[in-house]
Amino acid sequence: MSTPPLAGGINGPDALRPLLATVLDALRNGAVARGGPLPAGGPDAVATRVRRAAHPVLPDRGVGAPEALHDLVQAVAHGAADPADPLCAAHLHTPPLALAVAADLAASALNPSLDSWDQAPAASELEAAVARTLAAEVYPAGQSPDALVTTGSTEANQLALLLARERHGPVRVICGPDAHHSVHRAAWLLGLPRPVTVPATSAGLLDPAALDTVLTSLPGPHLVTATAGATDTGRIDPLCDIADICAGHGAQLHIDAAYGGALLFSEQRRSRLHGLERAHTVALDLHKLGWQPVAAGLLAVPDAEQLTPLAHTADYLNAEDDTNAGLPDLLGRSLRTTRRPDVLKVAVTLRALGRTGLGDLVDRTCAAAAHLADLVEKSTLLELYERPAISTVLFRPIAADDGQTAAIRRSLLTEGRAVLGRARASGRLWLKATLLNPHVTARDLETLIELVEGSTPR
Ligand SMILES: *Cc1c(COP(=O)(O)O)cnc(C)c1O
Repeated sequence: MSTPPLAGGINGPDALRPLLATVLDALRNGAVARGGPLPAGGPDAVATRVRRAAHPVLPDRGVGAPEALHDLVQAVAHGAADPADPLCAAHLHTPPLALAVAADLAASALNPSLDSWDQAPAASELEAAVARTLAAEVYPAGQSPDALVTTGSTEANQLALLLARERHGPVRVICGPDAHHSVHRAAWLLGLPRPVTVPATSAGLLDPAALDTVLTSLPGPHLVTATAGATDTGRIDPLCDIADICAGHGAQLHIDAAYGGALLFSEQRRSRLHGLERAHTVALDLHKLGWQPVAAGLLAVPDAEQLTPLAHTADYLNAEDDTNAGLPDLLGRSLRTTRRPDVLKVAVTLRALGRTGLGDLVDRTCAAAAHLADLVEKSTLLELYERPAISTVLFRPIAADDGQTAAIRRSLLTEGRAVLGRARASGRLWLKATLLNPHVTARDLETLIELVEGSTPR
């Protein structure tokens, strides 16, 4: 067997072209074979096909690129829960834009690694520019806004807690009942005291009055984490009131805007995030609202100086004399070492669509969720939890108990007809539709309602 060609260099593109044709065919064939939002038949049917396509995983003699590519890509596409299907709406699992995926291919082909300038001369400069620009969207009046590119808000929340700990000592994390589980894990990982959960308002938000009481009664240093777009409901905590209370107590404030952060792009909805700019750190994920393939997370700060606790030296990557001679030092921009240029797809998307284009996608998606909520309200068989805050709609069959509601979700999954999530709220189990597909139509939403109504006990 001859040595397989590489993706980079002058000849890389020509080596890629036929392979890409194979991949694209396999993606299409897989989607056709699936014929819906996810494969019918449940885990056993999928496992059988995957085992067949991947057997043996490591043959003594390779099967060659075309066969391996086609069979495995087709099996994975056939067995995918495809967020590009309008009825795949369980999680903050975004359908990526074609242009972002095309850009991500270039990132893979060039394979820059953002741990040293000599592995990523242009990609590191692009990352710096994009990070500063997006941070300035969050902090328009910031001193020198900057952002770290992360694998997502799990990492961003962890970094936020770490930065607060390095600056203020072992902070006591105080959060609302909707705080993402990664906040609790980050506190555990960083050896911080167990987070304190503040009671919610009647609307389920972090209660500023209760926060005031907790900050008064517990010794500091404090790090309050608020949420702009709760994972299960999309709810946005009262950011301004929380920022006021934090300022009054000298507490640090981190806002987890993993889901809601992209509302910044929408002229119509930006004001919903009023107060975001008062946080010391903000997490946001463009692989949720933002339509990027995983991963595309950010941790934004108003002043780049806040990031200095991450400074770190390894002689082979950022020797002091190299840095003094003008080679950018990248090691302090992440806890990771080898790091993908996730910024390329983001940069391409921002430039291709502009703020208006992205804002339009946000608005369409939120409007679709509002329409789905209307349909639930009109249904005599279904009950709506609350009007959607962003693009998540919780609903349930009126006549079903929690067990029946859970069973409806599972039967739609195993029949391959719809992918809905589940969420526990106000002590009951709800079906969760997290809309992220800007192409979803009114007809698609009616179909979703009909599917759930059709599975409902009467
Ligand atoms: C998704 C989410 C996270 C975790 O982000 P990842 O990108 O999955 O690491 C954190 N917080 C909130 C509110 C989220 O919705």
